[in-house]
Amino acid sequence: MKILISADMEGVCGVTSWVQVMPPELGNEPSSTVEYERARSRLTNEVNAAVEGALAAGIDEVIVNDSHDGMRNLVPEELHPEVRFISGSDKALGMMQGIDEEGVGAVFFVGYHARAGTPAAPLAHTWTTTVADVRLAGNSTGEYGINAAIAGHFGAPIALVTGDDKAVAQVREWVGGDLTGVVVKEGYSTFSAIHLHPKRAQQLIRQAAEEAVHKLASVRPWILPAACAVEIDFDHQSRADQCLYVPGVERAGERTVAFTAENALELNATFRALMQASRIKMSP
Ligand SMILES: [Zn+2]
Repeated sequence: MKILISADMEGVCGVTSWVQVMPPELGNEPSSTVEYERARSRLTNEVNAAVEGALAAGIDEVIVNDSHDGMRNLVPEELHPEVRFISGSDKALGMMQGIDEEGVGAVFFVGYHARAGTPAAPLAHTWTTTVADVRLAGNSTGEYGINAAIAGHFGAPIALVTGDDKAVAQVREWVGGDLTGVVVKEGYSTFSAIHLHPKRAQQLIRQAAEEAVHKLASVRPWILPAACAVEIDFDHQSRADQCLYVPGVERAGERTVAFTAENALELNATFRALMQASRIKMSP
């Protein structure tokens, strides 16, 4: 069996500021900060810890999908030598790219953050800071909920989550079952937290990854309900205006749009289109 690791960055130990998770912008180099460079090393080490645990538990192969921002954050030469890794954007399955490869039986979320609106959760957001909430069948969720649905479409459960305390609690509540989680920091606010030492966090992730593989029978794929109602609240009505150009999307409130997804691939495709459509300048 193979494991897919979806590696985000906001939930990594030591991270509490956008500065730490912002890669240099194209045409604006060198703008990479020392803090970003250190955070991407810690991200890579947390991923490696999960890889070691999975391999120790008998997993045949681990694929790592860089899932943050432009998706070029992992430091390739610092990665565990046994992995193959996916980098870059745009990818049709986004944070779940690789899930359709034959033999992937479970997913680890590493470095995950809480959904938009969560108090006391470092860098909590859903996709962009312009999204105020996403609801699937009326239930608020985050990136983790959409990603769990995509994984479920391919028959794979979420088996491990690492990140801040609110992220771990939200993913556990969302996917149900006896999900293994590692809290690497406890949030005080959107921009502050108390952290474990990075080495301690990595030890715990390694142990938890091994346990998670042994406990695979206790987690189930998360399946999107058929004809699922999807609602997205934005920060501004003009973003909702733009979303209405996407077929099948209706206005459901001043700053809210809605559509129906027959399955998780439709959810993924329409959601991605709406994230592009809503990316408008506020003063055209
Ligand atoms: Zn991210």
